[in-house]
Amino acid sequence: MRQNIEVLVEKLAALRTTDGSPLDLTLTTNGALLARKARALKAAGLHRVTVSLDGLDDSVFRAMNDVDFPVADVLDGIHAAQEAGLGPIKVNMVVKRGTNDQEIIPMARHFKGSGIVLRFIEYMDVGATNGWRMDDVMPSAEVIQRLQAELPLVALEPSSPGETAQRWGYADATGAHDQSAGEIGVISSVTQAFCSDCNRARLSTEGQLYLCLFASQGYDLRSLIRSQSNDDQLASAIAQIWHTRSDRYSELRSALPPDTGSAIRRVEMSYIGG
Ligand code: SF4
Repeated sequence: MRQNIEVLVEKLAALRTTDGSPLDLTLTTNGALLARKARALKAAGLHRVTVSLDGLDDSVFRAMNDVDFPVADVLDGIHAAQEAGLGPIKVNMVVKRGTNDQEIIPMARHFKGSGIVLRFIEYMDVGATNGWRMDDVMPSAEVIQRLQAELPLVALEPSSPGETAQRWGYADATGAHDQSAGEIGVISSVTQAFCSDCNRARLSTEGQLYLCLFASQGYDLRSLIRSQSNDDQLASAIAQIWHTRSDRYSELRSALPPDTGSAIRRVEMSYIGG
């Protein structure tokens, strides 16, 4: 983790968009240090957090993530974030068939009634090191089917354009938008690619702008910034890069021969964020 991350957050929170609005400032984290940092992050101006958590069972959690901390640390972090007011909190669970799919129902039961949005994400072939196979993917439709059998759900409207998750509420909540009940989201990045709506650009810590999670190379913004470009020049350079973009890897994946996808060089997700 970046040292003194709250100082960076404070600087970002002071920025304004061209129409004078503050940024929607959020942080995605594995939660390991969240219990210690939540209050300082909130005080620095962070709005909300998304926490990655792939199961409640320690051995399953470790099988999914190359980490050496227990699930309890992540749950403490989520609790601290709630206490600090860093909500609405989202918890992201990547579902890998045969590895952690038995955790779907326990995770839903755990977070139901907490106000937390629990999102199930199809296991993706991000980066080149995760040994992805289509057989490992559990389609979102199957996840919803499993949940419906135990915890009846009702479909909710998308909350914004470019929303990546299909939203579901608990049928027994007092109202479809009863936020205290929490919510389920499914992100079908493999079986229902949403590239045509994708509005995500990603900037690496070295100033490379990536236009797609599956990009093999970025655009060098750092040199542009260091060449004393002003804000207008930077904005028009970014606009030009974005408008000529043709990335739609997930839509193309299904048309690729089975092993081609894994042979294509791609940036690792841990390098640019999810
Ligand atoms: S594959 Fe690339 S373009 Fe498609 S949704 Fe993912 S990040 Fe966006």
